[in-house]
Amino acid sequence: MQNPLLNPSEKEDAFEQSVRPSNLEEFIGQHKAISNLSVFIKAAKQRGDALDHVILSGPPGLGKTTLSYIIAQEMGVNIRPTTGPVLEKPGDLAGMLTNLEEGDVLFIDEIHRLNPVIEEYLYSAMEDFKLDIVIDSGPNARSIQIELNHFTLVGATTRKGMLTAPLRARFGIDMRLDYYDVELLQRIALRSAHIMGFGITDEGAHEIAGRSRGTPRIVNKLLRRTRDFAQVDGLDTIDQKIADKALNALDVDTNGLDEMDVRMLRAIIENYKGGPVGLSTLGVAVGEDKGTIEEVYEPYLIKEGFLQRTPKGRVATAKAYQYLGISNSADGSLFS
Ligand code: ADP
Repeated sequence: MQNPLLNPSEKEDAFEQSVRPSNLEEFIGQHKAISNLSVFIKAAKQRGDALDHVILSGPPGLGKTTLSYIIAQEMGVNIRPTTGPVLEKPGDLAGMLTNLEEGDVLFIDEIHRLNPVIEEYLYSAMEDFKLDIVIDSGPNARSIQIELNHFTLVGATTRKGMLTAPLRARFGIDMRLDYYDVELLQRIALRSAHIMGFGITDEGAHEIAGRSRGTPRIVNKLLRRTRDFAQVDGLDTIDQKIADKALNALDVDTNGLDEMDVRMLRAIIENYKGGPVGLSTLGVAVGEDKGTIEEVYEPYLIKEGFLQRTPKGRVATAKAYQYLGISNSADGSLFS
């Protein structure tokens, strides 16, 4: 199934780029991670070194790609972007690595999907800035060593749990991005509307922010759709009323939950009496990989108090029952 969070359309991509913060100052939220990162960047620049390798993890749409571009911008170097599944053969990786200039950033999105053979090659490249490549085959096979410029590998992943231990160990800087609070998302909506050249009130921005599942990418997407509704109604400003009308018309949940969130809660309550239910069982019930549930979907439901993680499995909270309009008094579950 195509997930619109994981697979934004091309048009959305272009729009996202236009509103993408281009330096650390413009990046809203993730305060702790950003202030640490700015220290590491400053220190590396003072020493004249490449920045240590960085792993960025967290659910889709929280700013991993944005940050990798910001890192290159702040370091004053080039960025070469690629994704894990695109690097199929050692030659693909060698091509990317040998093109890097001193200090450049190699950005590998979806690094958890890297071919294991490529990953092996990456180890010595990351550690010693050397690449051992086998050329020819059979009796003529020989290995040559290529010296590389010092570079920074920035890896992004929604599934950090899928990275192998040796790869994980080679990243000196480890940053996890968390969901954003409504106030931060509201600031992002105000900023993006300003860049779009469309009016928005604080209340309008707040309405969109509260329904965006803690995710800047969703804020920007809903902002564009809301602008369409406002424009067609002859308005030049998004206020709370038009935002509410647009988001209701688009069936956007008032709590910001998406279809998979609702499916998960429904499955736990209707099929397993509210839980506890094991992750694998839940995965089968909703037709989604258990790792994706654990690392991509469930953190938001836990943060918002719809779900609890217990040693015996996942449990739906009273808030989840209330949200789905299901009574939990008669079924003997944990909440009454
Ligand atoms: P990821 O790589 O984690 O999926 P992106 O970096 O592509 O997410 O972010 C999606 C969009 O959300 C970006 O185009 C950017 O406009 C917006 N965005 C993400 N993080 C922030 C932020 N902290 N402040 C402002 N906008 C943000």
